[in-house]
Amino acid sequence: MTLDEQLAAKFVCVKCKGSGATVKRIAATGAGISRIFNIQHNKFVAVSCQQCGYTEIYNPEMLEGKDTRGDILDVIFGG
Ligand SMILES: [Zn+2]
Repeated sequence: MTLDEQLAAKFVCVKCKGSGATVKRIAATGAGISRIFNIQHNKFVAVSCQQCGYTEIYNPEMLEGKDTRGDILDVIFGG
């Protein structure tokens, strides 16, 4: 299972409590989205609720840390 599939499978919407998500990789240039989220990186994973469209943004470099992937996912999704 890829990281994207794990994100989609574990997603529970904080807005509508629905499950099921669409995961997209986003590459942004320096301005725009990276400034909105105030982070240095310009690659993102957007996880969008399939029910209401609520979207959460993650930093794939954090999620894909080689030895800590499971731990980080557990933190994000509350174990
Ligand atoms: Zn939702």
